[in-house]
Parts: sequence; structure tokens; C-alpha cells
Amino acid sequence: MSLKRGFQIKSTPQQVVIIGAGFGGLNAAKALANSPEFNVLIIDKTNHHLFQPLLYQVATAALSPGDIAMPIREIFRKCDNVKTLMATVNSINRAEKVVILENQQKIAYDYLIVAPGSRHSYFGKDQWESFAPGLKTLQDALHIREMILASFELAERSNDQTLIDKLLSFVIIGAGPTGIEMAGAISEIAHQSLKKNFRSIDPSKTKIYLIEGGSQILNAYPQKLAAYAQHDLEKKRVTVLLNTRVTEVTPEGVGIGSEFIYAHNVIWAAGNTAPSLLNTLDTACDKQGRVLVDSDLSLPVDENVFVIGDSACYQEKGHVLPAIAPVAVQQGRFVGKIIRKKLTKNNRSTFHYVDRGMMANIGKFDALVLSGPLQSSGVFAWFAWCFVHIYFLIGFRTKLFVFIQWIFYFFRGQRNVRLIERPVDLIEKE
Ligand SMILES: Cc1cc2nc3c(=O)[nH]c(=O)nc-3n(C[C@H](O)[C@H](O)[C@H](O)COP(=O)(O)OP(=O)(O)OC[C@H]3O[C@@H](n4cnc5c(N)ncnc54)[C@H](O)[C@@H]3O)c2cc1C
Repeated sequence: MSLKRGFQIKSTPQQVVIIGAGFGGLNAAKALANSPEFNVLIIDKTNHHLFQPLLYQVATAALSPGDIAMPIREIFRKCDNVKTLMATVNSINRAEKVVILENQQKIAYDYLIVAPGSRHSYFGKDQWESFAPGLKTLQDALHIREMILASFELAERSNDQTLIDKLLSFVIIGAGPTGIEMAGAISEIAHQSLKKNFRSIDPSKTKIYLIEGGSQILNAYPQKLAAYAQHDLEKKRVTVLLNTRVTEVTPEGVGIGSEFIYAHNVIWAAGNTAPSLLNTLDTACDKQGRVLVDSDLSLPVDENVFVIGDSACYQEKGHVLPAIAPVAVQQGRFVGKIIRKKLTKNNRSTFHYVDRGMMANIGKFDALVLSGPLQSSGVFAWFAWCFVHIYFLIGFRTKLFVFIQWIFYFFRGQRNVRLIERPVDLIEKE
């Protein structure tokens, strides 16, 4: 506001707090970066943005953690108005307009963007988690990588055939994109990468079971593409069990009704639920705990609090938008713009998701692409999958490193990150 010529009163920047630097939070922050009217504070419990779509490649020893994770501070190093705090938000107090950290520190906000993603759902059987870890964080991926690789080592030194069979059996629960990517990759480890590596065991005797409760794998895909993917997985010697409900998970393996599959490795890829932090918003949620947001992605009860990405339940054309990265990215940008323009609720437009399609990788030179009327599978789809994933990775170094690693991985079958960091005796005792 100009008072006299030459004098200006600068208004104090408004404080925007963003919980979570995933696809949603990161893109909201980018939309507000270098906008001096706002101080942006990103709070994340990790110090990095994680490219979850390639997490399964860390879990299966094809990529290193650093290839798919970028320090948040580095991303915003040139944006003076963006600050990063590595901390866990425990609760949100809307009445006081503060978020409360694990150490009870309170942080005030004018605008709040809640983007903490989702976590695994064990459908009320949380005790299964310790025997069937899921894949969400880098820590999860490194744990699963260790489990997979250590199984072959433990089998090599055993004389007990029953134990060897159990160590070389892998069960993946849930045949969505993550489930099929894990199954395809484990098959490639057993049948290609570890070929000629062992002297006592034969890794090609590995058994891989992919269990799905529904009547087709990849239930979001058309039946024809799903059938193609199933056929290819079966060619890779993955046993696909459809219409199969898991009734028990124990350290010995997985119960499916009256049958039991003995397996040392069980991986959970079956479902998501919202983080409990959302309960503290004190607003309506759906059955999965996701927050029901208005058409501008703000809360019906608070126009300055937005929920985006996997944590939000947003309906368009009668369907809830899926928990995928492009939805979170577009919602982050949309909310960032609303705040930047300081729009009040009545002046905000409605969020529309632009659906550019879906992709899933079945293995080397084999993927599915679904984009509008285009349905593609095989080598062409695989090249498209590689291009899109490299394109969306953050940073030139990361793109280059992943590209180089993929040349060795896809063309020579080499998985360069076959590291077990702890003594195998310690792993055996767990
Ligand atoms: C293994 C896997 C594979 C996937 N593959 C694909 C794919 O191929 N294509 C696709 O489109 N989508 C894929 N997705 C889904 C996609 O990654 C998510 O939809 C997307 O990441 C959601 O973005 P988000 O911003 O809502 O949450 P996220 O990206 O999950 O980010 C949430 C952030 O919040 C932080 N956080 C959580 N709680 C707190 C707290 N209390 N305090 C502070 N920080 C917190 C987390 O550390 C994290 O950084 C995949 C997901 C997984 C797990």
C-alpha cells in the first residue's frame, strides 16, 4: 500500500504450512516458491522427496535409494521463501491455527496444506504387518531387499530341503501395479540375475505366488490388458491366484482358506488407509479415513485448510479420484495457485483432474499403457513407461543415473545393488 511517494508499508508475509513433501506437498510448495507475500514451511518426517513409483526397483536391487529420493532442501535451495523442517506432525489444532509436532512444538499457520499420503491397510489384521511388510518408504524397500537377498543366502547354506523350499517361496498379496511389478521383478532376480551365482541351490526353482481377492489382476485396467499381464507373469513362472482371500499370515507363510503356502517372504501390496493425523482435523472422512474435501479441495468447515493427494477423498463424475501421483501433483498445483492469488472460497474454481492415463511395468521390455482410447502392451508400452518415469524424476543427475543403471539392468540383467548390510545370522534369527 502506498502512503506517500517513496514510502511503502510492506505487509507481513502470510505463513503457509505444508505437511508432507510427497507429490502433492512438493507441487503446492513449487507453486508458492519465490512469492514474497508468503513464507512457506514444508514439514516432513523424512528429509527427502520420494519417487514412490520406482520404489519396487530399490526393493528388488535394481536401483539405489539415492536414485529415487531427493533432499527437500536441495529442491528448494534457490527459493528464499521456502523453509524445510524435518519433523513429524502429531496433530492439528484448527481452533488455534497451529500444527503440533512430536516434541509438542507448536507451529502457527495462516494457510495449511495437509498432504501426508497414505499408509498400508491390513484390513483390521495389523498383527500381519510384521510378517508381511508393505512398500511405502525407503526403509520398507531396503528391508524387503534384504529379506529377498538373504533368503537365497540362507538357502545356500542349509541342508534341510523343507527349509530351502520355504526360503525360496515368495508370496505377494495384492495384484495391483505394485504387486505385479514386485512379482515380475522377483521372477527376474531368480531366473536371470542370480543365474550361475549359487553352487548348492538352484534359484530358478524359486516359487512366486501372486494372490488377488478379485476376479482379475490390475482391477483398474480393462480385462484384455489385465489378461495379457497375467499371461506374461505366468510365462515368468509366477503362480497367479485369483478370487483368493488370505485368511492368515504367520512367520511360516500364508493361509488361504483350508490351504497353506509355506513361504519365508511375504510382501503386502493389498490396500491403503489414511494416516491417523487426519482425525485431528475434526472433519468428515470416508471409510478409508480420507478427508471429504470441497470442490476447491479445502475443508467444508475451514476454507484455509486444504487436503490433497492420497489423503483426500475427492469425487469427480461419480468416482473418487484414485490414489496416484498425477492426482496429487495436479491438486498440489491447484491449491498453490488458490493461495497465491489469495482467493476466498466463493471466488475459487472447481478442481478438475486431467487424466492422461496409467502405466504398469511387468518386467524387462514388457509393460502396459492405458491412455484414453489407447491401450498398449509389450515393448512399445515398456519404452513409453521408461520415458515417462525418467521424465518425471527430479534432477538431471538422478535422470542420468537411473538411465545408466537401466541399461545394465534391462539389457544385461544386472542388478547392481545386491547388498545385504547386516550379518545374515542376525537376519535368520528374526
Ligand atoms: C510402491 C508404490 C508404487 C506406486 N506406483 C505408482 C505409479 O506407478 N504411478 C502412480 O501414479 N502412482 C503410484 N503410486 C502412488 C503415488 O506414489 C501416490 O499416489 C503419491 O505419492 C501420493 O502423493 P501424496 O503427496 O499424497 O503423498 P506421498 O507422496 O506419500 O507423500 C507424503 C509425505 O508426507 C510425509 N508425512 C506423512 N505423515 C507425516 C507426518 N505426520 N508428519 C510429517 N510428514 C509426514 C511422508 O514422509 C511423505 O514424504 C505408488 C505408490 C507406492 C507406495
